[in-house]
Amino acid sequence: MTAVTTGHQPLLEIQNIKKYFPLKKSLLSRGTRWVKAVDGVTFSVEDGETLGVVGESGCGKSTLGRNILQLQTPTEGKVLYKGNDITKYSESQLRPIRRDLQIVFQDPYASLNPKHKIGDIIGEPLRIHRYGSIAERRDRVQWLLERVGLEKHHMNRYPHEFSGGQRQRVGIARALALNPKVVVCDEPISALDVSIQSQVINLLQDLQEELSLTYLFISHDLSVIRNICNRVAVMYLGQVVELAATADLYSQPAHPYTRALLSAIPLPNPIHQRQRERTILQGDVPNPSNPPSGCRFHTRCPVATERCKQEEPVFEEKKPGRWVACHYAEI
Ligand code: SF4
Repeated sequence: MTAVTTGHQPLLEIQNIKKYFPLKKSLLSRGTRWVKAVDGVTFSVEDGETLGVVGESGCGKSTLGRNILQLQTPTEGKVLYKGNDITKYSESQLRPIRRDLQIVFQDPYASLNPKHKIGDIIGEPLRIHRYGSIAERRDRVQWLLERVGLEKHHMNRYPHEFSGGQRQRVGIARALALNPKVVVCDEPISALDVSIQSQVINLLQDLQEELSLTYLFISHDLSVIRNICNRVAVMYLGQVVELAATADLYSQPAHPYTRALLSAIPLPNPIHQRQRERTILQGDVPNPSNPPSGCRFHTRCPVATERCKQEEPVFEEKKPGRWVACHYAEI
């Protein structure tokens, strides 16, 4: 596989990352079997961009996010942050890097300790990283609360006193506490009411501009990804199958899986909706402990051939900035 490069040093380079989890052995099984949650992912993330990672549930996108942040150790591969491979770092070497790389979780309630006050939750990373004095930490928490659209006095309240949208604002404030460079947003709005999803998206966009953040935005929702991402990586069964600038990917999807995902997005105009041909994918996503031979998508691909069953397509740059893993990519 060729590395995805753009001629200069990107902020993050993900090189052939794999994350395998062992399956429990039965009495009769021989050797260890592995769930290949992420299986050879390569791309780069530019300073200040929002890179979307999209795919069906279980495709490995959240695991990929955690491996990039070193919340999990990859089985294989490298994560280069500012040119340095952080997968080789010890915990003490990682400590300053962790300030720069943060995460906003999907479920704002599960990710906040219900017994702790909001001020303590947002202030925890500041305390762990020995940021300033007690008074400076309190000032920073109050500043963060205001940045995310909450009020200073909210620091004395508990998570259950807030709505889902407000709790996610707290999660965002906590992620920003240490002034990070990169934030992995792991399905940050999918647990929220539709009515408040756009408020949280607008907040993330405002904060990106104000604080010069770089986002890796993980979502199953292609409509959301389209509105906020500069580039999009489409994942299927642990691998990236297409990567392109957002406008190119949505106007001219090159991979059959991307085309199927896009054809499922509801259109606002019912006439256009009726006119559009929808690709319905057959069957379920295969088991990642035993992926199909050749192209992993061949069991569901509407245009698969015999070659697809035998030969795994290479993820390669078919045109500048357009990466696809398909023998018959439409480019
Ligand atoms: Fe479909 Fe074959 Fe392309 Fe895979 S390589 S996406 S099976 S056409």
